[in-house]
Amino acid sequence: MRAALTGLHLTGAGRLLAPYTQGEGLIFTLHQVCPDEEKDRAFSPNRILKVTPDFLEAVLDQVLEAGLDVVTLDEAADRLTHGEGGRFACFTFDDGYRDNLQYALPLFQARQLPLTLYVPTDYPSGNGELWWLALEAAFAKASPEILVDRDGDVWRLPTGNDADKSRSYERIYWWLRGLDERRMREIVQALATRYGIDLAEQCRDLIMTWDELRVMAADPLVTIGAHTKDHFALAKLPVDEAVEQIVESADRLETELGVRPVHFAYPYGDPGSAGTREFALTEGAGVRTAVTTRKGMLFPAHRDYLTALPRVSLNGEFQKLSYTSLYLTGAPFAIWNGFQQVDAA
Ligand SMILES: [Zn+2]
Repeated sequence: MRAALTGLHLTGAGRLLAPYTQGEGLIFTLHQVCPDEEKDRAFSPNRILKVTPDFLEAVLDQVLEAGLDVVTLDEAADRLTHGEGGRFACFTFDDGYRDNLQYALPLFQARQLPLTLYVPTDYPSGNGELWWLALEAAFAKASPEILVDRDGDVWRLPTGNDADKSRSYERIYWWLRGLDERRMREIVQALATRYGIDLAEQCRDLIMTWDELRVMAADPLVTIGAHTKDHFALAKLPVDEAVEQIVESADRLETELGVRPVHFAYPYGDPGSAGTREFALTEGAGVRTAVTTRKGMLFPAHRDYLTALPRVSLNGEFQKLSYTSLYLTGAPFAIWNGFQQVDAA
């Protein structure tokens, strides 16, 4: 990906393709926004989910200078539906990290620009399982190997140096992602117990409380969207449980914040976590827009797929304005998608 971006940048191909690939706009995905304290750490598997406030500020200005309007998801849906208005960008933040209030909100307030947060309702209650961070914390403690319970056996993987840690983390992470959601959480809980990690404490450290969320929600610039209760991959759940995750998370947000959310983000958001069944379920539940993590720009045809929208991640490993300037052309995603504009299968 990095080589492809550099190639597009150096050859100017991105700019040439832009009229065909830039579409009507895009939705950025962010998670944490905080100063980088891990710059020199070789093993930092979740760094992709963090950008610095300085980078976010520079991207906001870059997007405005490029002539895009920064709009709400409702305005984005209106522009797609009616085919009117200029090119636009939406900024969305997943999971409800406290640093969004501390570092991101002031940047939007200073420019009077809107943003959206997607919050799994178990998280502000302090019971959320940010299991990917618990896994990283276990790796920090495990050396020279990590022990994981697997099918009645103990799986041992090397963690003696950063390269081993990175390789072993990837293996365990993707093995876990393939398991049944509840089984997977049990394994992570057992791992956390073994290495003395408290998932609830981790959640309370990193995620806003309901009171903090109410502070954010009170700002008219902020839209709060649903992101299920437990942050389960919906496609892996039986249909009644998937519906419950969608509907009851909206109920809870309405009770806590006084407004029923009409925007939704699928946890993980990849094709294995959200597909045609889930796109129909959110639509059936009265959701107006729902976002995936499939990469891409928004095109007029998306007006018929408002619950299957692609996004563009502001990835912590790619914090350069030359990359984001390419994102705005849409060229990297067009190439990624084989020039297919809508991917809702
Ligand atoms: Zn999420």
